[in-house]
Amino acid sequence: MRNIKHIQLKDMEEIDENDEEFEIDGDDIRPRKKSEFQSTQNKSTFKRLFEYLTETNFKKSLLIIAFCSFFIIFTITASLATKVISEQIIYSNIKLPGNVIPIHYFTHVDIRMEPKFNFNGTIVSTLNITSDKNDFIVIHADESTLSLNSIHLVSVPKYNSSKPVNSTDFDLESSITPTNKVYSPENSYYILFFKDLKKFLDKNGSIFNLYISYNGSLVDSEGTSTLRGLYLSSYKNPSNHSESKYLAVTQFEPVDARLSFPCFDEPSLKANWTIWITHPNNYKALSNMPAYLVEDNKVAHKTTTRFDTTPKMSSYLVCIVVHQFSSKSDFIDRRGKEGATSVPLTVWAADHLMDTVDFSLDMAKKSFVFFEDYFDILYPLPKMDLVAIPDFAAGAMENFGLMTFRESDLLYSNKTSDQENKQRVAEVVSHEIAHQWFGDLVTMKWWNDLWLNEGFATFMSYKCMQKVLIDEFDSEEIFQYSSKQPGLDIDASPFTHTISNNYTDPLDIMASFDSVTYDKGSSILLMLEAMIDRVKENAFRDGIRNYLKKYAYGNAETNDLWEMLYDSIARDPIMVIPDIMNQWTTYPGFPQIKIDSIGNNSYRITQSKFTQPNTTRPSDFNANSIWWMPIKVIDNCENTDDLYISNKSIQYKGWSDQACGTPAKDSFIFANSDATGFYRTLYDSSIFDKIVNRLNENATEHFTTLQRISFADDLYAFSKIGAIPTSVALKTFYYTTVSVEPNFVVWKDILSFLSFVHNRLETVVPCYIQYIKKAQYIFNKGLLPLIKLNITSDDELSYNQLELRKSAFSKVNSLSITSLRIHLNQIYLDNIDTPENIDPSIRAPLFSSIIQNGDIEEYEWVVNRFENTNAINERIDALKAISNPKNPQLIRNTLKMLLDGKIKSQDFYMVFLEMSYSPFARELAWNFLLDNFNFISENSTPGDIGKYVTYFASSMDSQAKIDQIKQFFTDAHPIPASSLANAISSIQYNMNWLKNQAPELCNFLNK
Ligand SMILES: [Zn+2]
Repeated sequence: MRNIKHIQLKDMEEIDENDEEFEIDGDDIRPRKKSEFQSTQNKSTFKRLFEYLTETNFKKSLLIIAFCSFFIIFTITASLATKVISEQIIYSNIKLPGNVIPIHYFTHVDIRMEPKFNFNGTIVSTLNITSDKNDFIVIHADESTLSLNSIHLVSVPKYNSSKPVNSTDFDLESSITPTNKVYSPENSYYILFFKDLKKFLDKNGSIFNLYISYNGSLVDSEGTSTLRGLYLSSYKNPSNHSESKYLAVTQFEPVDARLSFPCFDEPSLKANWTIWITHPNNYKALSNMPAYLVEDNKVAHKTTTRFDTTPKMSSYLVCIVVHQFSSKSDFIDRRGKEGATSVPLTVWAADHLMDTVDFSLDMAKKSFVFFEDYFDILYPLPKMDLVAIPDFAAGAMENFGLMTFRESDLLYSNKTSDQENKQRVAEVVSHEIAHQWFGDLVTMKWWNDLWLNEGFATFMSYKCMQKVLIDEFDSEEIFQYSSKQPGLDIDASPFTHTISNNYTDPLDIMASFDSVTYDKGSSILLMLEAMIDRVKENAFRDGIRNYLKKYAYGNAETNDLWEMLYDSIARDPIMVIPDIMNQWTTYPGFPQIKIDSIGNNSYRITQSKFTQPNTTRPSDFNANSIWWMPIKVIDNCENTDDLYISNKSIQYKGWSDQACGTPAKDSFIFANSDATGFYRTLYDSSIFDKIVNRLNENATEHFTTLQRISFADDLYAFSKIGAIPTSVALKTFYYTTVSVEPNFVVWKDILSFLSFVHNRLETVVPCYIQYIKKAQYIFNKGLLPLIKLNITSDDELSYNQLELRKSAFSKVNSLSITSLRIHLNQIYLDNIDTPENIDPSIRAPLFSSIIQNGDIEEYEWVVNRFENTNAINERIDALKAISNPKNPQLIRNTLKMLLDGKIKSQDFYMVFLEMSYSPFARELAWNFLLDNFNFISENSTPGDIGKYVTYFASSMDSQAKIDQIKQFFTDAHPIPASSLANAISSIQYNMNWLKNQAPELCNFLNK
């Protein structure tokens, strides 16, 4: 899965496994939290009943009889219930017991589209059951979406994999049905109790069919689509806006297959799937495999498609789409590959979006060539479909053979999308294709190793782009700001989590699709690859190939990967990969190194954990962790060394042969010189000054782009925690005004630094005006001369130039850059009636600028673009802009659009993120979030609302806000405990900055 582009934090809520009791509901007993069990609900019902019965004398006489009967019934029921409770207590683990192994699922789903939006299903699971002492079978099925109708366990004399599914094709005599079923809401599974199960199993061997018929709905009881399980998505027909079009689609990762099928929903329980789908005959159906047989029932206006049986795969990768889309196809290019058959590749989208599928189809085609070569394994399925889904909670999903995407992550138009949209589509498409091997062919055993899937797919997508799109942009540079820097930022929080984690709750699993998993995960792979390829060329690639071959169609753990990679460097005794990498996956946080010059061209390199001072820390916070780290150094004469540090500090003697003729006193070293290390570097003042001098002299001649990117980002990060004074960072970035800094990634860092300080200073500190002048000076003297204001179709600007230009325009309002603001306004005036002519690469800042500087008229013009454009990226630009007005009435209007369904729930996060940045909208939006907590919770995927809280907290800086948050987010308004901890920690951090860093900066500015 590719997550959406926002910061996500992990749920670290601790669940006490003993904190469970059970309630009786008819035949069912469900476990629930102790606090719930002790609620007075039942008591008051009894009390009301008693009061009713004692109202009259007649009732009083009846009461005695009733009470006696009740006592007898109660005694009998209680003794039965005790038995059931004692059976139930046997099982409450998040993981299934392991005595039932699914081999093959045959499932038929009959989906009714408008107006019913529901489905019936039958699933026959062929199971290998190990006879044991238990008399129950545990199977996942979410009670909130599925009703189980009939359940039969049937002995199968001979396992026949081609047997078609039919809910009544078994001999009732040879079957048993459960005597009781108990539901666990925490784990969304049923415990099916069978009388004499052991006897039945002993008599009939080990292979059984479990028949279950069920029904469910594509929407919840409120008619809302939850974007989980088998759900409803809709879109408007652009030629007739009053007509809605629909599709039914599945999203199962991580634990939502159970919302659509009763199944054994764990990644290691791989099975073959044979799927039938029935749907109205004006729709089409897709699944993981190609259609094998299609039958039309003209009388019932229905079509039934049977799909080929899948290879063994995990349940979270099963996918169904029932739609009315169009498509465009090509083939995976396998020229020169002996014995390889041709594999069709198809992109599907709504009819009116078909002119935007070409780029992703081409990117998919190139990615397959790249990955088949890199992994040295052919993509194993006979087809691949990529589908653009109008309502999609994540970015995309790698279902085996049928990948689904958020529209903006699959569709690209060279007229209405910009370079960044294109890069994102390329990244997401190649990410999902990488998963076909890393995730789908070889799957993690359990969700604690989710990072194996996600970190790897993220890392590989950049590797693929660097190969196939090198003429368009430099993916190594983009990786630095889109993965490594967010990974370092999130991991700096004292409430970060480890890459490998022991999840005890499905909510924990859902919340783990975050920046630690994706960004830190991919970054440590970048570091590892650089490390082991220095030992042996292509060692990393070879280790991966062996790993995939060894575990194909199976499951593996993190350590299995480390062992294969260690083998690929012949188990080098210095570089013990499993030991080294376990530190990186099981320690929270990351290290920094400090380099001190100790004279005579010698240096001391000391490591410590990168930590934020003066903030609350979790009780198990360990500030003394030591990592095994690779440190590549380069000196001022371009001599390089590969060092390793595995304890607190080392000494390093530089190259004595100063070939470049620099006097020894001027020599210095620069660490992490290839920017592959996942750590930060701090220099003593003498080295720091020498680096700054060289930057001022000629930045691009003395340092590579990757070195300047690391240096700028480390400088910004150290200034944030006070390890380098903010005034020093500000002065250092002046280098851009005397020496050209042409790289957009470096500028993104500098502009982030300027915005961060700006946001902190804007309300409280009197030196704000002086600060703005300094920031404007860097902007006007360093960045503006690199920007081409007007571009025509003849201009062929590079990705770097376009990104520089977009970054500059996006700071027009916060840094009050009048000339650019006027320029944007003129483009708007020239294109009021021809908005489609606005250059998409500056459309986002233009929309924001006219709304910020305009009034109702401009706001309504952008709202009109949001509601009426067919261009997906224009709609997103417009949505972000209308989240950013100054006028409170207009801010309220946008917030109201969340409530009345004009803004899709998949996009709520954009509104809250934008409003959290805006000093005008922040407070209103925050209050809106609190006032409408229930509505927003119901329309967000689990854990999302916690992220919204952290967006706002990152701009707050008062004790009153901490108190408000602590008071509000209690059991009545639950958010993940880690979101709460992170929110409070970032407010404390902002308060500390104002107290400790602002005075120093203001002293400098007032001089
Ligand atoms: Zn992924």
